Amino acid sequence: TPTIGVLALQGDVREHLAALESVGARAVAVRRPAELSAVDGLVLPGGESTTIDKLLRIFELRDPLQARIKEGLPVYGSCAGMILLADRILDGTADQQTVGGMDVVVRRNAFGRQVDSFETDLEVTGISDVEGGGPVRTAFIRAPWIEEAGRDVEVLARIPAVDTQGRPVAAAGRIVAARQGPLLATSFHPEITGDTRVHGLFAGMVAGA
Ligand code: GLN
Repeated sequence: TPTIGVLALQGDVREHLAALESVGARAVAVRRPAELSAVDGLVLPGGESTTIDKLLRIFELRDPLQARIKEGLPVYGSCAGMILLADRILDGTADQQTVGGMDVVVRRNAFGRQVDSFETDLEVTGISDVEGGGPVRTAFIRAPWIEEAGRDVEVLARIPAVDTQGRPVAAAGRIVAARQGPLLATSFHPEITGDTRVHGLFAGMVAGA
């Protein structure tokens, strides 16, 4: 069984640990460089990317994490975690840095303010299109989107053109899930809707790495 860490500096760590365990992974919280060295994969949870960025540096995890990503560590970033995985960001704070690794431009808080948070069903490639698949239940909480994706990035989900009532959607076509080799990123939180298939997909990536 692969061991999958959840970066536990800030954000919704417990929900990710529970989702990973429910798909059969061994899940551990990661706060120290030694703990990072011991994992086969890592989840960067949602939370506040500016805070996680600062804490990564204070806890001396930023350089080792960048090094492990360069070596091919499978990493799944959700929401703030997607921001941290992006090579470039828009609407970050003045001193905000990312860890990087994914050849994407991510716009922070792209869907608007906290009050614009929403839940929706989305078609996600690799999950919805498999036998017995179907849409994934997702939650967007002050979420980012991927504004540009490089050639090696596989787009896994976009915001549909119309909502379930057939009304046009402002964010239509925006990229909200993507993969580049061992790196997976989603704008949304699958760990709070009870739909564990994104964690299943990631656990499969870790097992195959
Ligand atoms: N808006 C947050 C940020 O910029 C992300 C929100 C989230 O992770 N739910 O980091």
